[in-house]
Amino acid sequence: MKARAMVLEEFNKPLVMREFELKLPKDGELLVKIEAAGVCGSDAHIFKGNDPRAKLPMILGHEGVGRVEAISGNWEDIYGYELKEGDLIIWDRGVTCGKCYYCTVKKEPYLCQDRWTYGISVGCNQPPYLRGCYSEYIYLVQNTKVLKIESNIEPEVLVSASCSGATCAHAFDTISPDIGDTVLIQGPGPIGLYAILFAKKYGAQNIIVIGGTKERLNMCKEFGATIVLDRNLTTLEQRKEIIMDITKGKGVDLAIEAVGHPSAVSEGIKLVRNGGNYLSLGFGDPNGTVTIDCYYDITRKNLRYQGIWVSDTKHLYMAANLVLNNKELFKKMITNKYKLSEATQALMDMANRSTVKSVLIP
Ligand SMILES: [Zn+2]
Ligand SMILES: [Zn+2]
Repeated sequence: MKARAMVLEEFNKPLVMREFELKLPKDGELLVKIEAAGVCGSDAHIFKGNDPRAKLPMILGHEGVGRVEAISGNWEDIYGYELKEGDLIIWDRGVTCGKCYYCTVKKEPYLCQDRWTYGISVGCNQPPYLRGCYSEYIYLVQNTKVLKIESNIEPEVLVSASCSGATCAHAFDTISPDIGDTVLIQGPGPIGLYAILFAKKYGAQNIIVIGGTKERLNMCKEFGATIVLDRNLTTLEQRKEIIMDITKGKGVDLAIEAVGHPSAVSEGIKLVRNGGNYLSLGFGDPNGTVTIDCYYDITRKNLRYQGIWVSDTKHLYMAANLVLNNKELFKKMITNKYKLSEATQALMDMANRSTVKSVLIP
């Protein structure tokens, strides 16, 4: 039996469909039939050659939901449930060593020095080849953390929990708003949508979103944003005036940057109140440097600037449960579905921001 997968052989060149020999898993691995693969912003960066972790040739796709096809050894999910063939699962895209300083002493496995990621930092030129989700099947290594999904949900609705959702959960797990706080979210993409719902769950009173795409901002309103500000219809000064007005001249308690552009950071940091928090998630790839006035914008304001890099299993758990409890909303987030063979088009559409969330259905 063969499995088809979309392979990135050269940067900036269309993905190529290749067939791989499908064998029963060995060495304690899990063979999973992919039901949905999320197209993430990082995939477009990898495609262009902007992610130093990429190893060609490779199968893209780090967001996946699938069904257990075959099992080698004993597999339990994070709840201790023994996996069986046919179970619907989602898994932590990052595999960590569990032994290093970050994994053990600091309990920050997202910083593990040996962390590698399905569909990002592993090539497809060594058996068992299938280590990315733009594929009909994937093999998961033994220490992959898996969540069995008991609830009835369409796989494509859940798939973004494994990257966008988990990364956003990492932000809220690091610093969360207090009840009644004002939260600013920069960037109305999938991370921004998760941020709106997390902010709501933590009890934020005002949830303000700044973005540049009308359709995405409208969706933010559906998700519960109290105010959306279109960058193309307002000036920097106007946005500041509106936000200062809402916060009685103080600025927001917490800002979440999910844009990855220096101009967003320059703007956002000035909109945070004294003693407030600025969380930067957006820079998934190098995208310029930001000039910050450390004295006026950080020290004198007693402001906390926190970077957020990827996520761990706790964050996947948080994001997956957020989706399972808000299925109808997250269903709206899926604006485009593609066949496996249309993966290159899906990447182009994602890069042009003409979609909110795209999913491949192999
Ligand atoms: Zn480690
Ligand atoms: Zn991602």
